[in-house]
Amino acid sequence: NHVPLTPLSFLLRSARVYPNRVAVIHGARRFAYAEMLARCRRLASALAAAGIEPGDTVSVLAPNIPEMLEAHYGVPMAGAVLNTINIRLDAPAVGFILRHSSARALVVDREWGAVARAALAEMPEPKPFVVEIADPEAPTAGEAIGGTEYEAFLATGDAATPGRMPADEWESIALSYTSGTTGDPKGVVTHHRGAYLNACGNALAFGLSPESVYLWTLPMFHCNGWTYTWAVTLQGGTHVCLRRVEPAAIFAAVAEHGVTHMCAAPVVLTMLIHAPAEQRQAFSQTCRIATGGAAPPSAVIARMEGLGFAVTHLYGLTECYGPATICMPQPGLDALPLEERAAFMARQGVNHPTLEEAAVLDPDTMRPVPADGVTLGEVMLRGNTVMKGYLRNPAATEAAFAGGWFHTGDLGVTHPDGYIEVKDRAKDIVISGGENVSTLEVEEVLYAHPAIMEAAVVARPDPKWGEVPHAFVTPSPGAAGAALTEAEVVAWCRARLAGFKAPKGVTFGPLPKTSTGKIQKYELRQRLHDGGAEG
Ligand code: ATP
Repeated sequence: NHVPLTPLSFLLRSARVYPNRVAVIHGARRFAYAEMLARCRRLASALAAAGIEPGDTVSVLAPNIPEMLEAHYGVPMAGAVLNTINIRLDAPAVGFILRHSSARALVVDREWGAVARAALAEMPEPKPFVVEIADPEAPTAGEAIGGTEYEAFLATGDAATPGRMPADEWESIALSYTSGTTGDPKGVVTHHRGAYLNACGNALAFGLSPESVYLWTLPMFHCNGWTYTWAVTLQGGTHVCLRRVEPAAIFAAVAEHGVTHMCAAPVVLTMLIHAPAEQRQAFSQTCRIATGGAAPPSAVIARMEGLGFAVTHLYGLTECYGPATICMPQPGLDALPLEERAAFMARQGVNHPTLEEAAVLDPDTMRPVPADGVTLGEVMLRGNTVMKGYLRNPAATEAAFAGGWFHTGDLGVTHPDGYIEVKDRAKDIVISGGENVSTLEVEEVLYAHPAIMEAAVVARPDPKWGEVPHAFVTPSPGAAGAALTEAEVVAWCRARLAGFKAPKGVTFGPLPKTSTGKIQKYELRQRLHDGGAEG
């Protein structure tokens, strides 16, 4: 009686149990679960009627809107592989993904019409056919590019056609390109089984329930929305879409819709903390925010708790459907002072419930490093919620799984309580006079400064030490931030860190970010390089 595991079953069940419960809210639009299922079935049958066959790739270029959510079900229900594309990419990068993934269809929000048109123009035949979304909440009408309008396309489908379930749970479900923080994007291929298990783990670990109201602050395109597209639906919770992620809109949505859960990169937390007072809105429900995608400094966690949010810390990667570890609260944690609690939660923690193992190993021996909180190794993962591999890149896939574990490229330590702490990306660590300097450790100290809003530390070449840490700092809005000096920042760090870890120079200004809110350290290194002896 074995049935392949697939997250498609979540929507079927929620539509049966809660047909009238609101599944999706977007501006004035509301879809109940029965309606959402009908729309997904229409999409699947319309795709099939348009020639999409099992195994084909269907790409989507859209922000957090109901149609994007529907693609997460409708595309796999046609047996196709869902490829969500980063909406911040330019036309050549979108074109690269469409070509590399051999996309057969492109579903695009008209705000991205011009980008799609330019990307398609460069593509060789056969080009994907286009379905275009005209979202009433879009700031402008965007650009029509001669495809079929989404609602007209849905009308060609049939809500009574049940949709295809995977014949095998290892069938591909999605193709997400890595964010490209450290190089060319790679196409991560995931399967139905992993998506099912990761969503179950998410629902459990994050405490999702049928009463949950989930606000979409994390891009739905990024590693398939860290599986929340599937996890929230599994429980029959409500998805609240947010087209533009801005503090005022987040506070307004939390208050208006009674949001209980959301998920955001630390940069969004920083935006909320520093939002002008008039943008803040009071809310009475518990709003849990999962943060990850980059290390959240403990000062940021503490300030978010001060704003009334309950923070969960996740560490994740595109290659494992999103969350790979979670910092599980321990009994007695609540009794600790806020700062100590935040320091505990800033660690990456233990394996996510449905991932078999997350460990810090010595990559030479593939044995665990001592659990002393000091010895550095590489964070490695093993289990059902790790990707199948990189699309058309067997060399990268083989390297990533060398020794039977997935290599994350992140350096970390294991603490005596078994909790993992990520110290740096291997590519970001500063080696100064032969000593490792964790840039995250220095940033942790910088974020604790009351006049610092954001900070990033990178290696600066140095004739004497090889490399030295250099800090890029965005001061907080207001008088204290305006008065911040390099000498003050360096002195603050020297008082709290060993001398070789303190930044040897400081540059003030805004920090470049990826679409998922990660600070682009390679760009900062490039600035130092281009600026010569800056700092
Ligand atoms: P690319 O692979 O193209 O360089 P990327 O590494 O940013 O891009 P993602 O899958 O988006 O690809 O991000 C995964 C990485 O983000 C992790 O390997 C880690 O370096 C970082 N990261 C994610 N969550 C956390 C966290 N909670 N703490 C520290 N780092 C994190």
